[in-house]
Amino acid sequence: MREVALAGWALVRAPYLSLRDGLAEAERRLNEADEHELPVGGWRRLRDADTEQARTAAVNDLLAATLAGWQLAEHQGRWRVRLIPELYVDPAELAAVQVLVLLVEAEGWSRLGRCNRAGCERVFLDWTNSGGRRSCRVHRPAPVGRS
Ligand SMILES: [Zn+2]
Repeated sequence: MREVALAGWALVRAPYLSLRDGLAEAERRLNEADEHELPVGGWRRLRDADTEQARTAAVNDLLAATLAGWQLAEHQGRWRVRLIPELYVDPAELAAVQVLVLLVEAEGWSRLGRCNRAGCERVFLDWTNSGGRRSCRVHRPAPVGRS
C-alpha cells in the first residue's frame, strides 16, 4: 500500500475570522447547491449528508473536482502556495472548499449545522470562537448591544 502524507502545516486555530469570506461562500453554495452544481454534485451531497463519513466523501469529491494542483509563487513579497483550480472551476469555489477543509481539520464536523428554526431547511457554517451558532444567516439572532 502506498504511503500517504498528511499536510505539514499546523492546524488553523480560533479565531477563524480570516476564513470568514471563504466560509460564507461555502455556506452560500451549500444553500444554493442546485443553482451552482458541479458535475459531482458535491455541495448538494454535503448539505444533505447524514453522517460524517458521507460529508467527508462529498468534500473529497469536491476537492477532486475543483483542485488541479499547487504552485509555490511570490505574492506581495512573500512565498505563498497558489492553488490551481480545474479549468471550469470558479477560483472562489476552490477557496470555499479549501477553507471548509481547514475548519473541519481544526474543529471536526460540528461546525456544519442545520438551522434550528422550525421549517427552515438552510445549513450554516459556524466560524464563531465558541462554536455556539444554532441558526442560519437568515434566522441569526440580532447581536446583543447593537441595533
Ligand atoms: Zn434558518
